Amino acid sequence: MSDVKLEDIVSLCKRRGFVYQGSAIYGGEAGLYDFGPYGVELLNNLKAAWWKANVRDRDDFVGIDSAIFKHPTVWDASGHATGFSDPLAECKVCHTRIRVDKELEAIGVTADEKMSDTEINTLFDENRSNIKCPKCGSKDFTESKAFNLLVKSNLGDFTGDNDRPVYLPGEACQGIYLNFKNVVDTTPMKIPFGIAQIGKAFRNEISPRNFLFRTREMEQADTQFFVKPNENKEAYEKAKNNRWQWYLDIGINENNLRWKQHENLVFYAADAWDIEYNFPSLGFDELEGLHDRTDYDLTQHMKFSGVDLNYQDPITHEKYVPWIIETSVGLGRMFLAVVSDAYTIEKLENGESRTVLKLHPDLAPIKMAVSPLLKNKPELIEKAQEVYKAMKKKYGTVMWDDNGNIGKRYRRQDEIGTPKCVVIDFQTLEDDTVTVRDRDTTEQIRVAIADL
Ligand code: ATP
Repeated sequence: MSDVKLEDIVSLCKRRGFVYQGSAIYGGEAGLYDFGPYGVELLNNLKAAWWKANVRDRDDFVGIDSAIFKHPTVWDASGHATGFSDPLAECKVCHTRIRVDKELEAIGVTADEKMSDTEINTLFDENRSNIKCPKCGSKDFTESKAFNLLVKSNLGDFTGDNDRPVYLPGEACQGIYLNFKNVVDTTPMKIPFGIAQIGKAFRNEISPRNFLFRTREMEQADTQFFVKPNENKEAYEKAKNNRWQWYLDIGINENNLRWKQHENLVFYAADAWDIEYNFPSLGFDELEGLHDRTDYDLTQHMKFSGVDLNYQDPITHEKYVPWIIETSVGLGRMFLAVVSDAYTIEKLENGESRTVLKLHPDLAPIKMAVSPLLKNKPELIEKAQEVYKAMKKKYGTVMWDDNGNIGKRYRRQDEIGTPKCVVIDFQTLEDDTVTVRDRDTTEQIRVAIADL
């Protein structure tokens, strides 16, 4: 994986129908991507696996799906309306905008997300001679200013003034806090318990870049685990273990993962760690965040809504605002990590090389390809169609592939990550056996159709 470049992954994703640049026929739109036929299958498999691990296999979790749009006050309570910003400066020559903290980070200077405008500008001024405009190379920038990342809409506003914008969610998890009381009131869940959700989020990222790593529209898979005050430590350790194990279970190489603890915590946080992944070309960077958030979120919503969000213990009748352990991962980053980790280039015995996506079979977008050896032999096609239909019934995403010669078909299926290729040949017509070729070993074995 270490020699693989991000552009190799982008190129394979485009070439093989996984991910396309958004609105490409109009020149593309920064930070937006569309998932193609194989991409959406992989994405859906990832979501299903995540949902199974975090909801269906757990007795102490339930799932929800909250509306994308929320009451505007939600973002006052969460702090996003005023405090969700990144430091922005503009190139005075070509007007390209840069995210100052990330440019500083790239030259080894840590700019903390809690720094004031003045503190960021002091650091920026000290390092201006080392920061170049990514477009024109100039070092002449404006001052850095905090730029709010929330995306506004005019939902339900028919006046045209838009003075009370309804924001698109800057993070999906707010929907969980809003429904905490609903879940307590309408299900048997008792603390400690968790709520999981996969939801859309939108951020006006100043410089969306690095393919799916930093986009303006994203999907986040979140869990929020509610515990009794001060009973956070053990739950946090458990969440950390679970989330680490999840990446191993979906086939990620452990050497490409590492932990990073946040140094400067926000005032309400008890602890915060990221799981970082060794992304091609970028190196180790945040894949998932795990936050020990104390009672901040529910206290804020209680304050702004006026609704009592205290939990009452059904046995002791003790009342308290639960503390929250959060895990949050962007599905685009997870998709990028999974594809990058599976991306393999192998030298073959004949001296040629092949590109293969060694995806976990549960995640592979196509489980099996079925081919007739020759395209112009009706008896082979008829038999192959029979096998294809039976396999499709059994495995769902099975592909009919009679395009090009067998070698080309194998190369295509390797790049899509299809675990098995089944070929129907003349022997099949005699003894009802087929050739099954394994993606990872390239070994071919003869198998009876009944045993497929
Ligand atoms: P970063 O520091 O990289 O901007 P963050 O700390 O702001 O990320 P969180 O707000 O904690 O990220 O969001 C939780 C998760 O959502 C991140 O770990 C990441 O996987 C994902 N995520 C956040 N911003 C983006 C984005 N612009 N594009 C894709 N995924 C994102």
